[in-house]
Amino acid sequence: MSKRAYVCRACGGLRRREKVYGRLGTESPDWPRCCARPMEELSFVQAEGATKLRKAERVEWAARGKRVVRERGRWTPARTERARARAAEQRATFAAAERARAPRGKAAAPGRGRRASRPVV
Ligand SMILES: [Zn+2]
Repeated sequence: MSKRAYVCRACGGLRRREKVYGRLGTESPDWPRCCARPMEELSFVQAEGATKLRKAERVEWAARGKRVVRERGRWTPARTERARARAAEQRATFAAAERARAPRGKAAAPGRGRRASRPVV
């Protein structure tokens, strides 16, 4: 049992529902719908950002790619070109860190305790 946040691209509505499993995906009768269409499932970081917007703001945010940026320890919706550029930068930095860490396995960087949080965007 696992909850997910879903957003409606048409009206910006946000709902929390059980995650819908199975190959039917958005065709599943369990998939949340709004405005006569399937809602879009958000990642955890997108959900954190989405709650900070009003409905009308979420419509535009969803249309522009649902990007979030890490700011002062919180995921914030990227609503300006500048914020979206920062989001892209953060994703690239994270991806590079992942690549650097992966081949060395568990022996990687023993002295560095900080772990990047995962931007699943
Ligand atoms: Zn709707």
